[in-house]
Amino acid sequence: MTVMRVTPENCTGCLQCQMVCSLTYHGRVNPEEAHILIERDAAGYRFLVGFTAECRKGCRLCANHCSYGCLVPLHKEVAANG
Ligand code: SF4
Ligand code: SF4
Repeated sequence: MTVMRVTPENCTGCLQCQMVCSLTYHGRVNPEEAHILIERDAAGYRFLVGFTAECRKGCRLCANHCSYGCLVPLHKEVAANG
């Protein structure tokens, strides 16, 4: 089930998503513990977006805190069709 739309081209590397995820699930702000992965591509100009196996995909907290349109939470009705 798709719960958010991901557009890596919009990612700025701000890491807000990782901060909110790690704070919520590990009690501290540590991007390395987040369940969303933000990495530079080989050329170093863009960002790649991925998720770990621990990601509770339905929570969408990361998408709710992305200000750049990279992660956009989908409403449940839309997600059910997506
Ligand atoms: S996905 Fe959004 S919140 Fe996360 S690093 Fe990229 S722009 Fe920032
Ligand atoms: S959906 Fe939830 S658990 Fe998964 S990366 Fe985003 S904030 Fe973390």
